[in-house]
Amino acid sequence: MQNIYENCAHCGEESKCRRRDFSEQAWTVLVVWNEIQTATVDRPVCDDCYGELREVLIDRADEIEVALRQPQQVKKPAAQAKKQQPAAKSKVRKAG
Ligand SMILES: [Zn+2]
Repeated sequence: MQNIYENCAHCGEESKCRRRDFSEQAWTVLVVWNEIQTATVDRPVCDDCYGELREVLIDRADEIEVALRQPQQVKKPAAQAKKQQPAAKSKVRKAG
């Protein structure tokens, strides 16, 4: 077992850090949920953070699929234009 001390990519503390074998999906949802920064993906994290992140994944296991199904850019339904202003055509002419 190697004891490598380096800065945790998540909390920044110098600690025993290792690259964790989260799946690509796991990293992705952690980013989507704002649990980690994008830059943290695939970087070594300390035991504490690893435990935390793992718990999050376990806690929200049923949300993972949903999160992965979300497109990066949320499309808004086009039928949302309720307040359409009618073209102001009527000009009132004053006879004068
Ligand atoms: Zn950490």
